[in-house]
Amino acid sequence: MNLLEVKNLKTFFYSDEGVNKAVNDVSFEIPSGKTVCIVGESGSGKSITAMSIMQLIDQPGKIEGGEIILEGTNLLKLSDSQMRKVRGRDVAMIFQEPMTSLNPSYTVGYQIDEALRLHHKELNKKQRFDKVVEALDLVGIPDPVEKYGEYPFKLSGGQRQRVMIAIAMACRPKLLIADEPTTALDVTIQAQVLDLMKKLQEETGTSILFITHDLGVVYQIADEVVVMYRGHIVEKASAQELFRDPRHPYTQALLHSIPTPGITPRKSRLDTVDDTVDYLSFPKEIR
Ligand code: ADP
Ligand code: MG
Repeated sequence: MNLLEVKNLKTFFYSDEGVNKAVNDVSFEIPSGKTVCIVGESGSGKSITAMSIMQLIDQPGKIEGGEIILEGTNLLKLSDSQMRKVRGRDVAMIFQEPMTSLNPSYTVGYQIDEALRLHHKELNKKQRFDKVVEALDLVGIPDPVEKYGEYPFKLSGGQRQRVMIAIAMACRPKLLIADEPTTALDVTIQAQVLDLMKKLQEETGTSILFITHDLGVVYQIADEVVVMYRGHIVEKASAQELFRDPRHPYTQALLHSIPTPGITPRKSRLDTVDDTVDYLSFPKEIR
């Protein structure tokens, strides 16, 4: 069963130079309890797809068409106040740079508590405190009771990203959107954070939309893969199928250009994604 269906989504940016069709007729599904990865080069429209689902697109951008259906409800038809309730409660998002999304002036505990105060008005202070400690514990922060009063700058990059995940998971969202959440981390910490997300998914059943430009990360975490190129989906397949039998020339080029230990054979330098090729001229490979 699908938790979320994105149908024919179009999000455009307007400027004096013209229209930038950042997301141009994008359709994909996120099955319940599964991880879908969007992969593509910088500027291909990954973040704007995520921001469109959250309805965080501002001027000069505009969602020009499509449907975003969460358990039967088209989110694009909700009022602003209804959508505010969906954000954080049903769909939560974590970003690449934890230091810019965490507020340096507030303690870690206070910032997790904020999400609970907003979405769970039925909980009293003590109940919320217990939930914050539980959330810190869930993401593997040691001594969660002491860490409640800690400020973000005292934590390592990996711990900050864990706090971001704790904030996102505090309300037990149905869908967690993670936009390059491990890109700023070193490889070892990145692997730990990916393991953590997998573990949280097993424990809570949350669906994950994971955005990355790194096929190595896709290999580690994805059930389903959506390959984006210049605002379009060029290939869609299960992770297994995609790595075993990449069909679209763009996917093949990506696989060859990004060295992925154990996956990509050593290739000549000519085998990078070629800017002179219009990969949209090849048929889409939707499986
Ligand atoms: P990525 O795949 O790297 O996440 P984005 O989704 O951020 O790519 O961007 C897709 C396209 O939308 C790019 O062409 C980018 O320049 C454009 N874009 C993104 N944000 C804005 C903005 N705030 N104003 C104008 N154009 C934007
Ligand atoms: Mg991005």
